[in-house]
This record gives sequence, C-alpha cells and structure tokens, in this order.
Amino acid sequence: MFPDLIPRFKTPVWLYAIFNMEYFETGNGQHYLHISNHLSPHLFIPTFMDPDSADACHLYRQTEQAASQILKTTFMTVVFTTCQHFKNETSFSAVSVNFQKPVTTVTKPVVPDAPKKKKKTIYLTFDDGPNKGTQNLVHIVKGEEIPVTVFIVGEHVYGSKAQHEIFDSLVNCIYVEIANHSFTHAFKNKYLTFYQVPDSVVNDFKRCADSLQLSSRIVRTPGRNIWRTKNVNSTDLKTSACAADSLFANNFNVVGWDLEWHYNSNLELKNTSDDMLMQVDSMFVHAKTKTLDHLVLLAHDQVYADAGDSTELRQFIIKLKAKNEYHFETVSNYPGLKKLTKRILIKCVFLELKF
Ligand SMILES: [Zn+2]
Repeated sequence: MFPDLIPRFKTPVWLYAIFNMEYFETGNGQHYLHISNHLSPHLFIPTFMDPDSADACHLYRQTEQAASQILKTTFMTVVFTTCQHFKNETSFSAVSVNFQKPVTTVTKPVVPDAPKKKKKTIYLTFDDGPNKGTQNLVHIVKGEEIPVTVFIVGEHVYGSKAQHEIFDSLVNCIYVEIANHSFTHAFKNKYLTFYQVPDSVVNDFKRCADSLQLSSRIVRTPGRNIWRTKNVNSTDLKTSACAADSLFANNFNVVGWDLEWHYNSNLELKNTSDDMLMQVDSMFVHAKTKTLDHLVLLAHDQVYADAGDSTELRQFIIKLKAKNEYHFETVSNYPGLKKLTKRILIKCVFLELKF
C-alpha cells in the first residue's frame, strides 16, 4: 500500500527520512555530533575525541545507534503521516470529486407538428320535405349528430296534419336548417311554365317563406340546378336564367348542388353508399365542385322512407365521418352568401306595407 500512496503526496514525505549529520566543535573545545532531520528532534551528542583519532570508531558506534533511533522515529512518523494523508486525501476526494454519473436530461427532439390538413366541407341537403322519408332522416342526423339543410316545399307542410307535425319536428331539431324550395314546387313540377315568369317565381318563394315564417334567405329552384351567390353564377337551363336573376335581385341566395344521389321511379336509390363515397372523393380530387373544397350533395327525403335506403344513408354518413377528411355544415355557412342586413329588411317591410 505504501508505495502506491507516495505519489499522492503533494510533499514528498519520504524525503524526511533523510537526516543530516555533522560534527562540529564549540568555542570552548567541546565536540558535538549533531544529527537531525525535519521530523525528528535535533540530537546533540557530546564527544571528546577528534573524529580523525583512533577512538573515532567508538564515536561512530554511538552515532550509528543514534542514527538508528532517528530512523525508527522517522519511519514511524512517515507511516503515520502517510496514513493521515491517505485518510485526508480520500476524504478530500470524496468531497470534491463527484463520482455520480452525470445527470443527463433526456429531451425529446422537437418535431414540429405536421401542418393539419384542412378538412373539406360537405353540405348534405335534402329536398321536397316534409314527406314519408323525413322522419327517418331526422332520426339519422340526430343519431350521427351532423348538420343538414332541408329544402321545404310549402304545400307539403300543409298537405296533412302529420306532415305539419313533421315540419315542426324539423324546426325543433338542432341539426336541421330549413331552407326554401318554393311553395308549389314549380306549379307541381310544371317547370317550363313556372320559370317563364320571373316575378311569379319570386312570389312563389316569398309565399313559402312567409307562410312558414322562414328566416332563411336561401332557396333552391325546383327541377333546376341554379346558383346565384356572390361567388357563383350558374344556370343549367338558360330558360330559367331570368327567374334566377330575379330571385337574386330580391335578396335570395340560390344554391344548387354539386352531386346528386339519384333514385329511380320506384323511389329507390340508384347508388350504394360506397358508390357515393367514391363520387364525393372524386369530386374533391378533381376539383369539380362549384367552390373549391366545398361540396353540396343533393338527396331527397322521400327515398329514405325505405328501411334499406335509410340504412344506406346512415352508412354513407358514417363512412364520410370515418375518413376524417370532411366536416359537415349547413348551407347558410357556404362561402359567398349574401347576408340580409337590417336596412334591407326594413326596406322589404316598407314595400309590403306600400302595396
Ligand atoms: Zn324538388
């Protein structure tokens, strides 16, 4: 152990073992042998002989004994000092040297959030209610908790007490927005006649709005896919263009559709929910909607009186939701619709009073 410890000392203690020995004579002729080192007491040995004399051997025997004693003392001192140094140095090391493993904080690399993909908007719209399929529709949208817009025909509301009650249930359903599909449905589907007289068209829509107290200024023209908004101006059959312009001039927003879920003469759906899902995807992918990333889908309440078809409607909605690419809105949230200001409302009231 000792040899290992020696290099630890800042002061080379082992050198203390070297002692000094000198022979000297005092002023009064007394001879002394002085033996010392740094750790042992000074030792003065009186002698009466010249070291060069014949008796010097006796003196050196004395000296040898003294030196031996000093060496023992020195050795013990060195051992003791060594132990003290070892103890202190160990303690010092324990205090001053941090043997603990350096604490490293594991920080996750900062990965910027991937930009959220903006969801596309689907507006599910249902025409011609209230009728036999309307209750199933309400049941489905309540269950799936999605907003829809229903375009109501005034005459259908007044067709029977049951249909009026269905209309009331639409009014009270928080997922349903009610819009205007005319009062007579183009004089009971006499489209050419109906659209020939623009004022008549406007009045038919006003009648519906007034009789049902609709606050919405959103209309859909029966049998025609016509758009009149601030951003979209589109008419499928040009013979209806003047009537459409008159509606827009009378502060109605005319909203058509981008995609229709067709049905046959037996009121059965022509396409499955999967077919429609692919068509919706395709419309967005190929940017075929009137407004980019906004799709208005047209369906008809009456088809969903059938249990199988209403199941298809629910499946269609469930599959759209599952894609997590779309969200649903009512038509009043479609971009570019005119909002009726209070000033315009007052003007309308004034004109009605005048006439
Ligand atoms: Zn219709």
